[in-house]
Amino acid sequence: MQNDKTHPQMEQDMNQQIFSEDLQSKASLTKPYSKGPYNKSNDQEQWIRITEGCPNQCEYCRESFENGIKPIYYPIPNIIRNDVKIIDMNLMYKSKAIEILDELGSKRVNKKVVYYELVCGIDYRYMTQEKADALKRNRFKKIRLAWDHNIIEQRRIKSCIKMLNKAGYRGRDIMVFMICNWKISYQDNLFKLDLCKVWGVFVCACWFDNQAGRKIKPIHWIPEHIKEFNRKERKHNQMINFGIDPQLKNCT
Ligand code: SF4
Repeated sequence: MQNDKTHPQMEQDMNQQIFSEDLQSKASLTKPYSKGPYNKSNDQEQWIRITEGCPNQCEYCRESFENGIKPIYYPIPNIIRNDVKIIDMNLMYKSKAIEILDELGSKRVNKKVVYYELVCGIDYRYMTQEKADALKRNRFKKIRLAWDHNIIEQRRIKSCIKMLNKAGYRGRDIMVFMICNWKISYQDNLFKLDLCKVWGVFVCACWFDNQAGRKIKPIHWIPEHIKEFNRKERKHNQMINFGIDPQLKNCT
């Protein structure tokens, strides 16, 4: 799981942070992750980090490299917006996950409920029906589910989507994100796109080493595949959104 969206202020903060040589040395990774508790807001939304750490040691992610297997918990800051984005990596694996979700869900701002997003997504390996229910009752929206590894995980991804559906999320509330331009091939990611169509969920490409935008540097994929996957991702999401292909204008 990696950020598919980075707060502009957070990007600045990352650049200002000092990282040791060791933390920068993970193979192929050039972009540092920010560390420590985080709490920024603008007029509409608030961005927070309240935990760190992940045991998975994914080759394309620096989180576990820095934090090992022991999670770090920070106090939940004062919630001051009704729209809060949580940038923690792999909150779901942490033993206090449900406790944290419930505490967040109990917050009110101007006597109104607060809506949350887990920006870095959900790891299906730690998902349970209890956690899916806790996400729903505490108003977590735009559920992002990470499918970074192989297509042989299809059954486990499907089962995680089923738990989310049972908790009350529709397919259109869920987005599966997948790492691209990495060692999972373009063809395998096309199979994932096919399955996500069958499941009726949105997709989001997550570009290796936190790259984004039009200037993605080819690393494990060729430029044509990067361009084509971007196009197919857009098309997939249009079709999930509208239930038709809106670009086929001449067909009734
Ligand atoms: S599961 Fe997510 S947070 Fe953990 S190491 Fe892998 S990509 Fe990073």
